[in-house]
Amino acid sequence: MTPRIGILALQGDFAEHLQAFSALDCQPVPVKRPEEVLSCQGLVIPGGESTTIGKLCQRFGVDEAIMQLHQRGAPIWGTCAGMILLAKEIEGNDQWRLGLMDIAVRRNAFGRQVDSFATDLAIAGIADGPVRAVFIRAPYVTRVWGEAETLATFEDNIVMVRQDKLLATAFHPELTDDRRIQQYFLNMVCSII
Ligand code: GLN
Repeated sequence: MTPRIGILALQGDFAEHLQAFSALDCQPVPVKRPEEVLSCQGLVIPGGESTTIGKLCQRFGVDEAIMQLHQRGAPIWGTCAGMILLAKEIEGNDQWRLGLMDIAVRRNAFGRQVDSFATDLAIAGIADGPVRAVFIRAPYVTRVWGEAETLATFEDNIVMVRQDKLLATAFHPELTDDRRIQQYFLNMVCSII
């Protein structure tokens, strides 16, 4: 069975995620409504503005659909703003979040001078050398606990975490031509269907 990968299409760079997954053996679909979310075997929450995506999630009832999808055991991957929404703690901020991962994040953590940058990251579980990582007004993870496992760091800051069926990247794998992280997520999805 070809898995349906839902790309949350409320705000942010969902088009780039759709494009990135189109090269792989899956069916990427933009999802906006609760029933569309629930029709998928995996979900990607893209980069964008986490407060806006959060508000739209609540407005359209997508928040509950994502929680249900998670309870069913479907993998969920958040990039950048998506990572913020997966975190249990957001430093100094009470904005709405899904709060599924045992991580604390700091928004816009790299500061003004390095608003956006790219670097090569060694990632645990990804073979064949480092991955080019693009950061855009990115958060990083200040703390992990419980089941959350650090997969990559940049200058001692945690930028990729996995917690069982949940994956979070502070950077944007959809903005390069390397598809290894999409394939890693797809393998998580295929292992449960
Ligand atoms: N700065 C954004 C936020 O805090 C995230 C940036 C991104 O997703 N590229 O929501």
